[in-house]
Amino acid sequence: MTPQDSRTTALITGASAGIGAEFARQLAGQGHDLVLVARDRARLEKAAADLEQQYGITAEALPADLTDDAGVAAVVARLTDDARPVEILVNNAGRGLVGDFEENSISDEKQGLVLHCQVPLELTHAVLRGMLARGSGRIINVASIAAFMPRGTYSAAKAWLLSFSRWANAAYGKRGVKVTAVCPGLTHTEFHERMGMDKSVTPPWMWLTAERVVREGLADSLRGRAVSVPSRRYKALAVVGPLLPGRLVTRRAPRVK
Ligand code: NAP
Repeated sequence: MTPQDSRTTALITGASAGIGAEFARQLAGQGHDLVLVARDRARLEKAAADLEQQYGITAEALPADLTDDAGVAAVVARLTDDARPVEILVNNAGRGLVGDFEENSISDEKQGLVLHCQVPLELTHAVLRGMLARGSGRIINVASIAAFMPRGTYSAAKAWLLSFSRWANAAYGKRGVKVTAVCPGLTHTEFHERMGMDKSVTPPWMWLTAERVVREGLADSLRGRAVSVPSRRYKALAVVGPLLPGRLVTRRAPRVK
């Protein structure tokens, strides 16, 4: 039996849409039971029911706002329930912020940092002891290609998540817990619409599908890779990006709102 065949439970944050919903579909397709986390209860419950029906797995809806302490506490409680171990954690919930740093409200900026850094840190901490005790587990942190270039607070937060994942994979991989940062480039999801961005300004060749991002991310996670960058074009950017001169990389992107 390969690790892919063994039935375990996966908890996915941001599972109601986009990349998180695709993680839910592909992990259900591999026979894993699921815990789905996001804010929209009705949407989560429908997704859970559909996945149960389609794949014959068990899917729990766990509605929680991860920028709220009570929401995080509910997810931590589920992750530390030893009677129902979680073997795969996908830290995926996230969102963009369209304005310039100095114009955004500090509360929006702080919420972004919580969602992209503090929440993955807390959920990883919660799930890790059980995984180490069992000698197995996988943690997937959805970062971004933006982690490889200094372009605003979003990319700074994703750079933290990338570095955290690299370190954690090196520290815990030999004890059976694999940690992978999945670093997508532009991907068709609800992310850009939620920000009010016009996607037509970006050439079609730059766009990935969530299906590909997740398929490659899950394969790299099974192989124990610390970093997964889907597609050759974005793999090349991950190599070149850190070498580009700062003035080029930090140049202000055109306003799209
Ligand atoms: P999406 O389609 O907008 O989905 C975002 C998910 O996160 C939804 O399920 C949303 O559900 C959930 N979410 C947002 N805020 C939340 C909160 N406070 N608490 C709990 N759940 C919350 O976006 P996506 O593109 O799939 O984004 C997933 C991840 O990929 C993010 O971390 C993003 O930074 C990263 N990423 C995306 C792209 C891209 O081009 N799309 C590129 C690189 C990286 P509710 O609204 O119901 O809470």
